[in-house]
Formats: sequence, structure tokens, C-alpha cells
Amino acid sequence: MSPRVRVSAWPCGRQRPRSMQTSPLVASRLPCALPTGHDGPHEDAIGQTWHDPNPELEYALGVALAADLLRWAFADDTKDNR
Ligand SMILES: [Zn+2]
Repeated sequence: MSPRVRVSAWPCGRQRPRSMQTSPLVASRLPCALPTGHDGPHEDAIGQTWHDPNPELEYALGVALAADLLRWAFADDTKDNR
């Protein structure tokens, strides 16, 4: 009996973002095998799923982290800033 592999006629093809790739890289670089326009998380041919990162959340986190780094860089070290 051969393994069950799902491949649709027009697969989504989206690949996991580089930040989400884990070892072994060959397995984590498989593209999404679900049909184009599917709902929910992406899923590759071996059943691993992932969500696309939220660009608004990434932007908000980047601004918050940059503000925190600037605050830390210009903090007065002579005071107790707790
Ligand atoms: Zn997909």
C-alpha cells in the first residue's frame, strides 16, 4: 500500500516563511498542497500545517521593540529607571 499523498490540481504552493523553517529543512520547505484559495492554515503533503504571519502584528511588534531600544539607548544611567 502506497502512502497517502494529497495533491490538488491547483495547489496553493505557499511556502513556510524562513523564520518558521525547522530541521529537517527539506521537510519544512515543502509547499502548501491545499487547493488555491483555501481557508485556514496551510498544509504540506506530509500534513504539517502553518499560519502566515500577520503583517500588522509584525509591524506593531517592530515599532514597540524599536521604541524600547531607543528608550534604553537614551536612558539616563545615573538614575534608577525602574
Ligand atoms: Zn496554502
